[in-house]
Amino acid sequence: MSDIINNKCTGCSVINGDLVPVGGWIYETENFVLAQDAEVMIEGFLIIQSKKHVNSLLGFSEEENLELANLLYKTRKALNELNICEEVTIVQEERSKHFHIWLFPYYDWMKEKFGKGVKYLRDINQFVMENETEENRQKVLDTCDKLKRYFADK
Ligand SMILES: [Zn+2]
Repeated sequence: MSDIINNKCTGCSVINGDLVPVGGWIYETENFVLAQDAEVMIEGFLIIQSKKHVNSLLGFSEEENLELANLLYKTRKALNELNICEEVTIVQEERSKHFHIWLFPYYDWMKEKFGKGVKYLRDINQFVMENETEENRQKVLDTCDKLKRYFADK
């Protein structure tokens, strides 16, 4: 096996169950997992991550890439059909060791407080982590439940 399980890898910790994101796994395919971001309590801030420890789309077969594309599409569609958010920013950084895609929802308060665009994402995350409330956490959990029901019906 070329996939070395690195205990320090957050991605591997989620896959092997050592780190459980809020709300648990929302949905799972053969090679990918969909979950709420484990650290930032923004409702609908979702992460698709691979079960394999690779850093790039290039680490997947063509079939796995199709599986991923389908999951990305379904997830984006779910955010729309469940009226969670209207606009999403999608990010995948190869400098991160374990492949994951961020689906970052855009809400009006973000624009008002920070501005609009990729360059504000880290500031927004920082702000939300520093101002976490129980109410917000509950909203995130409710959204996870909605998404789980949505995927269970598909
Ligand atoms: Zn990993």
